[in-house]
Amino acid sequence: MTDKRSKLEFNKLQKRLRRNVGKAIMDFSMIEDGDKIMVCLSGGKDSYTLLDILMNLQKSAPVKFELIAVNLDQKQPGFPETVLPNYLSTLDIPFEIIEEDTYSVVKRVIPEGKTTCGLCSRLRRGVIYGWAERHGITKIALGHHRDDMIETLFLNMFFGGSMKSMPPKLKSDDGKHIVIRPLAYCKERDIAKYAKAKNYPIIPCNLCGSQENLQRQNIKMMLQDWDRKYPGRIETIFKAMTNVAPSHLADNEIYDFKGLSQDVASKAGGDTLFDTPQFNLPEFDTDDDEDDSDESQQSKSIQFVNIG
Ligand code: SF4
Repeated sequence: MTDKRSKLEFNKLQKRLRRNVGKAIMDFSMIEDGDKIMVCLSGGKDSYTLLDILMNLQKSAPVKFELIAVNLDQKQPGFPETVLPNYLSTLDIPFEIIEEDTYSVVKRVIPEGKTTCGLCSRLRRGVIYGWAERHGITKIALGHHRDDMIETLFLNMFFGGSMKSMPPKLKSDDGKHIVIRPLAYCKERDIAKYAKAKNYPIIPCNLCGSQENLQRQNIKMMLQDWDRKYPGRIETIFKAMTNVAPSHLADNEIYDFKGLSQDVASKAGGDTLFDTPQFNLPEFDTDDDEDDSDESQQSKSIQFVNIG
């Protein structure tokens, strides 16, 4: 590939990532004027990309907000302590490395061979929330992307018996913190390409030796397999996550089935008992060099025959 061609492709990729982040920020009102945003950096491709795109958007955003990059060094054996400070020193941004030995706590409390991620995540969350509170942070930005959200949905359905994922915006249980995921509309494939092109100093994510990410890997492989066999399926699944019909599921908590009677107003198009339902699918995005024009974002309609 010529230099000119790869530069052109990189520019398109960067534009797409920025547009997707901007759209997610708008759609979910993630950032407001005066926000002080803590960007959590793990040293993986996703969080480096998140920081880069947010720093870039900060320059042109119609609102003023602060960014502070924060890494939690959990003292996992082999964690390369200098990598992130060295990288962050080259950027024009305040940063903080929090040192907290949660690794030893997890090792001490959890018996060998038992699952560690639950306690490890709770401890990490506690440290991050505590730091955010002490430093007047108004939003905590995490680097999870669209594919993380889809994988989490299936993990929860397959192993947790619930339909829930990672939301683009979340209020902490104690009500003190707002967590945002500005990469919610970004594909992992785009982020991986971007991180490679930017040559970020990636820190491996397997330092703790946990096997618990195995199930996530299995789900990832399942989704990749579907994507190969049925192009567009991943996009459709994500579209479904943004297009939920509580009245057509079976959860009494989110829809008042018991209170349903002839007196309750009907929702237009809600009765699909004998109809041929219409499904609005997003334009399939199967090509890495996808057309970024607005036309390509238009949805198309497909008819499914209800044979039930
Ligand atoms: S994979 Fe390791 S670092 Fe990540 S949550 Fe699990 S135990 Fe903690």
